[in-house]
Amino acid sequence: MPTTTSQICSSWCWLCWVIRRLEFASNVLQHGSRESHLSVDIYDEVGIGGGASGVAGGLLHPYSPKVKLLWRGAECWNETLNLLHIAEGALLKLVNQGKCETLENNESPIVRRRGILRPAINLKNMKIMTENAQNCIANCRIEPIHEDAAQNLVPNLSVPLNLAFFMPQALNINAQSYLEGLYLACQNLVNDMSTLGHVHRELHFHQKSVQSLLDLAGEYDAVIICLGARAVFLPELSGKLPLRTCRGIITHLQLGDDIREEYPKHSPSILSDAWLAVHGARRMDLGSTWDWKSMDYSRNVTTDEASKAMEVLLPKASSIYPTIKNWTVTGAVGGLRAMPPLTADGSLPLLGCIDNYVDGSATCKYWLFTGLGARGLLFHGWLGKLLAQAVLSHDENLIPFELTLWKHKLHQ
Ligand SMILES: Cc1cc2nc3c(=O)[nH]c(=O)nc-3n(C[C@H](O)[C@H](O)[C@H](O)COP(=O)(O)OP(=O)(O)OC[C@H]3O[C@@H](n4cnc5c(N)ncnc54)[C@H](O)[C@@H]3O)c2cc1C
Repeated sequence: MPTTTSQICSSWCWLCWVIRRLEFASNVLQHGSRESHLSVDIYDEVGIGGGASGVAGGLLHPYSPKVKLLWRGAECWNETLNLLHIAEGALLKLVNQGKCETLENNESPIVRRRGILRPAINLKNMKIMTENAQNCIANCRIEPIHEDAAQNLVPNLSVPLNLAFFMPQALNINAQSYLEGLYLACQNLVNDMSTLGHVHRELHFHQKSVQSLLDLAGEYDAVIICLGARAVFLPELSGKLPLRTCRGIITHLQLGDDIREEYPKHSPSILSDAWLAVHGARRMDLGSTWDWKSMDYSRNVTTDEASKAMEVLLPKASSIYPTIKNWTVTGAVGGLRAMPPLTADGSLPLLGCIDNYVDGSATCKYWLFTGLGARGLLFHGWLGKLLAQAVLSHDENLIPFELTLWKHKLHQ
């Protein structure tokens, strides 16, 4: 039996790839054919959720700031829900086995399901937002509501134009727990398939830095590069990708001990010029800043950087949720976004074979998956699945052309 050894790098891109890869293999198994030996090596110098994915605010819905359905928003939304379900299942299994703490009130270890509220703040956009909202998808509805209804959902909310858009099925994800749940699900799948005894699967995590793609050249049949913004630091790709980097800071807030009135249990998170991702009655995150051209990918935020971030974020948050003044900053985290160019379909990730950049060949061994911008949580699942199919079939044409267009533009 031939051996196919695949190597991939990093974060939730690879996690979804692994899951899809192995799910795909299990489908093949169910239908009676036997796939070759598969071994997946994951390299990440920090660990699971080591980059922007681990710090992401976690607000998840398939719409633009003007509540327009994003490119392939329905497919992306559905696939993300599917992966969330898989990751939740893996963590709940641990809870049921008594291997991890039980959860308060049967809450999910990953998802807060209270919806997201977006007050309209720009008179100019009200008409277009109302029109866009009518084209929402059935499993992520958008309900235009007036001030009274909005304040019923979030007491003390400011609704300057007497209009807000409520997405009751939108989610707030704990990104780090999600990634850990996905990895666990990958491990479970490998173990389950090995137990079945028909096929041999391996999954290895290497906490190691990759300095150059050529270092991996001899060992693998396929290499998937999902280093987020740091793909631009690889010597083979430096100066070749149409990506801009943008650092973002998120501050963690807690309600002061002297404040009795908590954030209501059933109230949604809030999206505006700044967003408030609610994690509980007395805990929320406020984000995020946009420091264009920064190359700083560190998760750590200095005191000075955190207070500058608050200077930017606080006025934005107060204008929509004035009681934010009762909350105290307890910490801050940062990450680097990989921002792709704006196209007629919006800002789309960059995918495709990139062998010509690495060793000048025209084979499909090296694959790129980056440019998830500020929407990694939405894009990763569906695009990870498509990329997995393309890698398995050695067929770049399985990736929607909108995502590989960047390569053709570079050569024009
Ligand atoms: C502050 C902030 C808030 C955000 N909020 C949201 C949100 O609410 N919703 C949303 O959808 N998106 C959000 N995003 C965007 C989202 O985080 C990104 O789109 C997504 O995380 C990108 O995922 P990635 O896997 O491409 O990159 P990353 O998550 O950055 O993963 C790259 C990984 O590669 C590893 N790595 C890098 N170089 C090397 C190397 N040479 N060798 C080995 N390992 C390496 C890193 O350690 C890291 O783990 C936010 C981003 C930021 C910065």
